[in-house]
Amino acid sequence: MILYNTATHKREEFVPVEPGKVGMYTCGPTVYHYAHIGNLRTYIMEDILDRYLRYQGYEVKRVMNITDVGHLSSDGDTGEDKMLKGAKREKKTVMEIAKYYTDCFFADCDKLHIRRPDVIEPATACIDEFIKVISALIEKGFAYEAGGNIYFDTSKLEQYYIFNDFTSEDLAVGVREGVEEDGNKRNKADFVLWFTKSKFEDQELKWDSPWGVGYPGWHIECSCISMKHLGEYLDIHCGGIDNAFPHHTNEIAQSEAYLGHAWCKYWMHVLHLNTDSGKMSKSKGEFLTVSLLEEKGYDPVAYRFFCLQSHYRRSLVFSWENLDNAVVAYNKIVAKIAGWKKAEGESVDEAALAELRAKFVAGLDNDLNTSLAITAIHNVLKSTANTATTRAAIADFDTVLCLDLLQAADAYAAEEAKKAAAAANTVRVYSDDPEIRAIEEAIDARTAAKKAKNYAEADRIRAELLARGIVLTDTPNGTTFERK
Ligand code: AMP
Ligand code: ZN
Repeated sequence: MILYNTATHKREEFVPVEPGKVGMYTCGPTVYHYAHIGNLRTYIMEDILDRYLRYQGYEVKRVMNITDVGHLSSDGDTGEDKMLKGAKREKKTVMEIAKYYTDCFFADCDKLHIRRPDVIEPATACIDEFIKVISALIEKGFAYEAGGNIYFDTSKLEQYYIFNDFTSEDLAVGVREGVEEDGNKRNKADFVLWFTKSKFEDQELKWDSPWGVGYPGWHIECSCISMKHLGEYLDIHCGGIDNAFPHHTNEIAQSEAYLGHAWCKYWMHVLHLNTDSGKMSKSKGEFLTVSLLEEKGYDPVAYRFFCLQSHYRRSLVFSWENLDNAVVAYNKIVAKIAGWKKAEGESVDEAALAELRAKFVAGLDNDLNTSLAITAIHNVLKSTANTATTRAAIADFDTVLCLDLLQAADAYAAEEAKKAAAAANTVRVYSDDPEIRAIEEAIDARTAAKKAKNYAEADRIRAELLARGIVLTDTPNGTTFERK
């Protein structure tokens, strides 16, 4: 499988450290608000990677943190802790909102068929780990104390900037929102590992540490949680592109300084979901959620399909029109599958199935090109193989894509059958009023004449009724009448 590695800026063959096994780390949500559908684009694409690696037979261990402390309003080291900001907004404690929004996040993931990671670890559960690693960094000369905080000293590294092939716009995201100069830093790029002093003395969650009562920086949590569960060598680390700098850059700095060797082999970054007015962001306050999609009548799976139509390394523009187009495309696939004749008594043509699978695998092997995987679905729709085979192919692809295609097609076919049966069984209930009943019978006679293509008779009946002052109107639901 070829994957683009943002650390080397190259498409590379994916070869895990230990054959057959993959350690995968995913930056989890900051749980101070609902996840927006931009965040969820990242999690959907990471889910495809997770599921595809499993499909290819790898034993995957996937770890995700939950950021419930330390992520400041700016991704630099200034601003209020996002969790505290959320707690104040809702007049709740930090732990209350962390629990609420963590549950909401996983409920959204379930609706979007995003598989739960094997390990989910909140940052607040790993304080001892953070203290252990920060202490070691100080001991090794990679960190220093200044003004009550512990900073990582980036001047001690041979190379600090790793992901340097982004546009200035991408990098600007990392230093947004009016970062103020911190006079304690020896170098501009240094970052906080542990805070005991910040402008926001009302920080709700604080812990004892060798450097005083305080709380961890955001970056240290992902390094520590990854190393705790996945060891010293990580195969793949994922996140949205805004995480590349400074978050992932700092993760690499502190992990490699701590370990004394290279840490993570592959970095996968998902480009942003944007709207006409720019990047979708939680801090802007206005954003689209899965619940809003549902309120508007969309099945969350349609959003998953919308995301899969595009490659993860291209930014994607959301609009209702674009989503509607995805729904139409999805429904067309479903209707086509629903139209396949029943597979009774047939057996799967293994050679044909292997050929159909080869197209699907070639698409995803090509840097997880999900739009090629959707082309592989269309290839099945065009196939002349029997239904047992084409259904087997769709079921196989859907273990990765998780678009509920067969279930949706079976539900569609059942609905169509019900409608047809209802139409066939429609029994006219005539009026008790003899005069109205005569009109209804005349209408039925005209309908029968039209069906038999006896248009002269149909017109004669209409004219006869008109002569009696009765006007007919044909509608998609039958013929109605009114008196002139
Ligand atoms: P957060 O909850 O802010 O820590 O972000 C959770 C994940 O969503 C991270 O991997 C971010 O990089 C990613 N993310 C944030 N905004 C967007 C966006 N507009 N489109 C795609 N991914 C995003
Ligand atoms: Zn992270």
